[in-house]
Amino acid sequence: MTDRIYSIETRRGQIIQVSIKRDRRLKKSSRWQWQEKDSIQLRVPYYLRQRVIKGQVDEILSQLDKQDKVARRRTDTDLQQRAEYLNKRFFNGSINWRAIRWVSNMEVRLGSCSNGGTTDGHIRISDKIRNWPQWVVDYVIAHELVHRLHANHSQKFWKTLQDGYPLTERARGFIRGFSFAQGVQIEDDD
Ligand SMILES: [Zn+2]
Repeated sequence: MTDRIYSIETRRGQIIQVSIKRDRRLKKSSRWQWQEKDSIQLRVPYYLRQRVIKGQVDEILSQLDKQDKVARRRTDTDLQQRAEYLNKRFFNGSINWRAIRWVSNMEVRLGSCSNGGTTDGHIRISDKIRNWPQWVVDYVIAHELVHRLHANHSQKFWKTLQDGYPLTERARGFIRGFSFAQGVQIEDDD
């Protein structure tokens, strides 16, 4: 049962609907999770008072603002702009993430994406591919973006990626060829 929906606005202007679900299985603590891009579900103990719930909604808002602040520090503008462009052009803007940045500590992987936990929505791209052709870098970004929709390499994952980014198979071939020629192990499916 959803008994109420709160609308909150983060400091960066994102409007989020928080729907409250009273849950008899919860004894003391409440839990929240993303439902869609702009909506959160907060599950609360069944008899929790409205005033307390309101306080928890405020707490979610301050957590989101804090995460935004961390994300801004960790985002690289060029990658962010490219990811926004790819999201809009190939995925109808359906994907959300929190931060995307270059990292130098990836040896075999080209990118990674966290789903859930304190680093939820953080995408990292290996700076070893920084000088690769743009369309291959785009593939790696698109690959990590699609992990926001499908965490594992399921058939749905590959279908979404292939339907969205048209050069997917060509880019995978490029990566395999590169890795073969260099005699190095590179995993394109992380
Ligand atoms: Zn992957």
